Amino acid sequence: MNRYTAPLTDLRFALYDVLGADAQFARLPGCEAATRDVIDAVLDEAAKFAEQVLAPLNQSGDQEGCTFDAAQHTVRTPKGFKEAFRQYVDGGWIGLTAKEEFGGQGLPETLGAALKEMIDAANLSWGNYPMLSHGASSALEHHGEDWQREVFLKPLVSGQWTGTMCLTEPHCGTDLGLLKTRAEPLPDGSYAVSGTKIFITAGEHDFVDNILHLVLARLPDAPAGVKGISLFLVPKFKVGKDGSVGERNAAVCGSIEHKMGIHASVTCVMNFDAAQGWMVGEPNKGLAAMFTMMNTARLAVGLQGLGLTERASQNALAYARERLQMRALSGAKCPEKPADPLLVHADVRRMLLTQKAFAEGGRLLGLYAYLHEDVARHATAADERERAQALVSFLTPIVKGMLTEAGIECTYHAQQIFGGHGFIVENGMEQYARDARITTLYEGTTQIQANDLLGRKVMQLKGAGLKHFLSEIGAFCAQHASHAELAEFIGPLSAAAREWGTLTQEIGQRATADIEEMGAAAYDYLFYSGYVALAYFWARAVAAAQASAHSADFKQAKRLTARFYYARILPRTQAHLAAIRSGAATLLDMSDAQFG
Ligand SMILES: Cc1cc2nc3c(=O)[nH]c(=O)nc-3n(C[C@H](O)[C@H](O)[C@H](O)COP(=O)(O)OP(=O)(O)OC[C@H]3O[C@@H](n4cnc5c(N)ncnc54)[C@H](O)[C@@H]3O)c2cc1C
Repeated sequence: MNRYTAPLTDLRFALYDVLGADAQFARLPGCEAATRDVIDAVLDEAAKFAEQVLAPLNQSGDQEGCTFDAAQHTVRTPKGFKEAFRQYVDGGWIGLTAKEEFGGQGLPETLGAALKEMIDAANLSWGNYPMLSHGASSALEHHGEDWQREVFLKPLVSGQWTGTMCLTEPHCGTDLGLLKTRAEPLPDGSYAVSGTKIFITAGEHDFVDNILHLVLARLPDAPAGVKGISLFLVPKFKVGKDGSVGERNAAVCGSIEHKMGIHASVTCVMNFDAAQGWMVGEPNKGLAAMFTMMNTARLAVGLQGLGLTERASQNALAYARERLQMRALSGAKCPEKPADPLLVHADVRRMLLTQKAFAEGGRLLGLYAYLHEDVARHATAADERERAQALVSFLTPIVKGMLTEAGIECTYHAQQIFGGHGFIVENGMEQYARDARITTLYEGTTQIQANDLLGRKVMQLKGAGLKHFLSEIGAFCAQHASHAELAEFIGPLSAAAREWGTLTQEIGQRATADIEEMGAAAYDYLFYSGYVALAYFWARAVAAAQASAHSADFKQAKRLTARFYYARILPRTQAHLAAIRSGAATLLDMSDAQFG
């Protein structure tokens, strides 16, 4: 047990039947190459890579972990990891979505997301190495100078080098305004970067010769706080403007962390001691540049939650079919066997259906966000690009927060379905639960996603993305208002969408009177929003399945999962609503001393 089969049927259903991604690509300039034939070929080959190369390394990688050589400051990744990376590069996967001018294949990000879900399901730890490179590439593409794109971006896209993201310091994680790393200008236009960064994923490893660290640091005259942060590219081996690779830079791994999960994804303390670096973007505007990378990474971490949900649910379902325990309450379902399979028991089905609802609904939410990223980049009309961008930016904290929290819930359900065997290492379920835990912590904790959603995306930006999303839900409900077979979903969905709008206004009014109300509401508002968004995608899934050429069983399974979602998961919104309406006082009235 510890299997993984890429969910190709559901991925195709999501891309073609629900989202119409192929039709979108056909009309978006620059995406035309992504025809159905190409998409199908990419999905099939990606599935093989995930199932046959990465999945078999997941458990062994967890058990072996990464090894640090303190004398050489080097890291050895688990057996097979380096070779898998080589295969990934040779197969052209690493540059799948990068622009052709930088050596990529220029395919849509939506397709990259489908690939990423499979990678994360197969081997979350391994997936972190290319994920960081992808983030570094997008920061360089958007904020780098021409020579930097030539010298640094191309080797990232080709997989010759990899990238990192160096934000966190011992005293600052969430609050980057506190960071102390310094950058002094040098006569040749480069900078001497000094400081310590902690928790740096893929900071040192044995996949490639050179590693490009994107480091947040302060110039000598920088203002305090987030307005005084700049972004620097600091290579492991120095690189000149002409691309020549020089001596070892003073950017070294001091130690690696021992962690609860993702053992095969190395987490480094990085020491920069007047290391040579190059500024990326403008002075004191580093955080904006880093946000390009962080937003890419936040959506990507959402997919990690989704991948784990999918893999855990596949194993739990297989186990529930095989394991015989007790009889169904209404009498034996398999009288020829000594007991019935776990699958007959209502509460086991609750857990399996929860996983199915989050996996398939979450897939739609994630791919929808990525599809709008493609629209935001490629649409010809400015207003269409603007609308798509507003939607992506609004949905990013929901994708990240909701899909990772669902990943935790669903990997726990998988363990529970395995009973005591879920606690035993060799069965693999406890690894999923351990690996899932990090996804709600890095790339901004769930609380930070919640603050971003309510504070920035809804309040500060006047809810532009929310308005677009609600009007889309409204249009969908209107379109299907007379469709009897959808009535059980359309009524509750339009009521939930109306309530979402009213609730947002209520919070806005309360926060105007007392800003603490916003912080007190944010967490519940994130979940409330996530559950309503998933309700929208479940209604769309039923409508799309109905109109598709899929089998009657497939259509019925979509309907029954949607019915389960609306009956047993969507009502969670009401608990969040009540918590929000209870106001900030229940959280703030107790004095610090009274906490005990
Ligand atoms: C395995 C691993 C890999 C990582 N990889 C990288 C990497 O590659 N690069 C990198 O730069 N960093 C990386 N990180 C760091 C990670 O992003 C941070 O740990 C994370 O952002 C949280 O920061 P912190 O740990 O300092 O927690 P803190 O900022 O101290 O937060 C502690 C708690 O307080 C809450 N909190 C803080 N502020 C608020 C607020 N305003 N409102 C509500 N709640 C709040 C947080 O949600 C959290 O629950 C990694 C961490 C780990 C463990």
